[in-house]
Amino acid sequence: MSPSRVLVLNSGSSSVKYQLLDMREGAGTRLAVGLVERIGEQTSRSRHTVLATGATREHSGPVADDEAALKAVAGELAKDGLGLDSPELAAIGHRVVHGGMFFTEPTVIDDEVLTEIERLIPVAPLHNPANLTGIRTAMALRPDLPQVAVFDTAFHTAMPEHAARYAIDTKIADRHRIRRYGFHGTSHAFVSRATAKLLGKDPAHTNVIVLHLGNGASASAVRGGRCVDTSMGLTPLEGLVMGTRSGDLDPAVIFHLARVGGMAMDEIDTLLNKGSGLFGLCGDNDMREIDRRIAEGDKAARLAFDIYIHRLKKYIGAYYAVLGRVDAVAFTAGVGENAVSVREAAVAGLDGLGLAVDGALNAVRDDGPRLISPAHARVAVAVVPTDEELEIATQTYALVGKERR
Ligand code: ADP
Repeated sequence: MSPSRVLVLNSGSSSVKYQLLDMREGAGTRLAVGLVERIGEQTSRSRHTVLATGATREHSGPVADDEAALKAVAGELAKDGLGLDSPELAAIGHRVVHGGMFFTEPTVIDDEVLTEIERLIPVAPLHNPANLTGIRTAMALRPDLPQVAVFDTAFHTAMPEHAARYAIDTKIADRHRIRRYGFHGTSHAFVSRATAKLLGKDPAHTNVIVLHLGNGASASAVRGGRCVDTSMGLTPLEGLVMGTRSGDLDPAVIFHLARVGGMAMDEIDTLLNKGSGLFGLCGDNDMREIDRRIAEGDKAARLAFDIYIHRLKKYIGAYYAVLGRVDAVAFTAGVGENAVSVREAAVAGLDGLGLAVDGALNAVRDDGPRLISPAHARVAVAVVPTDEELEIATQTYALVGKERR
């Protein structure tokens, strides 16, 4: 029997997350999941769970870099006979954040692909280097195994030029590859398809607004399975208010901080990416904490929540206009799947657009995709859990299978 397992690796700047899935007959059964976090610090820690037994192993103590982290992951997998040397492993699927305009589909990694991912570092300085280290380490551990890159930007390469371009000098934009690339594409693709399925409709004839609200957050307008607009841009900084990112902002704020505030460019970068959003507004970026503080009457938390919701509502309205006809609005990721308060507030007052949330359905806690709009609503409102790892494994396995045939 041909090998059917796929290891999905998500190598970030300070963490490595992974899942080993069995893709036999498209099942996507999870065999092991885990993460190594706080890489490069003294307080690194890791957690590894084997799903067949439910056994979890945890370790703490310094892990120097991504390479050491990945070797530790390989070691953990090997303890249960699931190691990288297993003949049942068909491929490794890597999440790669920035694929520019070049990568419109999952791609088997070779030297040329590595060079292109490297060339994109200037537009993804935080993410692509870590992704590359993960790929190179995995390739060194299993040079004979197909390794596939699945790009966060790929789904958005379908965006029309009028949505992808900024209104700046075209020659300068082209020279520096400045355009709106969008991110979280794997999730937007998965969720828009799963939403059509939930409605019992063909994705090719379904229009969906996907709201991916995690610590990073983005919205997308999907027409008939293709992305026609998304809220993140050249980098993941544009768009919605996020956990620690500002989202949309008058670019002149940056000039002002430099000229009047005397801040260096790197400081401004850090401020807007790591010290802004919900965290910058109220000191917390976890929606659970914000909900709790609001219940206690905390004014800063209330204002942060209101700013977050106001922006979200503007994007729902904008993408409604972009699509013209909307079949569903789908909430996903940590906040979208769990924060009852956010879903209720984001849709409140949008009855004129045919959008409403049923209070009782919205309050139900469930792991599966579900509708939260009232029966007979003109537009469905849904909670659709995202599964980026399954999507990466599915795309990786399909590509490797195709190459084998
Ligand atoms: P990431 O962008 O890191 O992948 P996730 O999609 O995991 O983020 O979302 C993490 C966020 O989800 C947390 O910061 C928190 O704000 C939110 N979250 C998680 N669980 C809950 C919950 N039960 N209620 C409200 N918000 C939640």
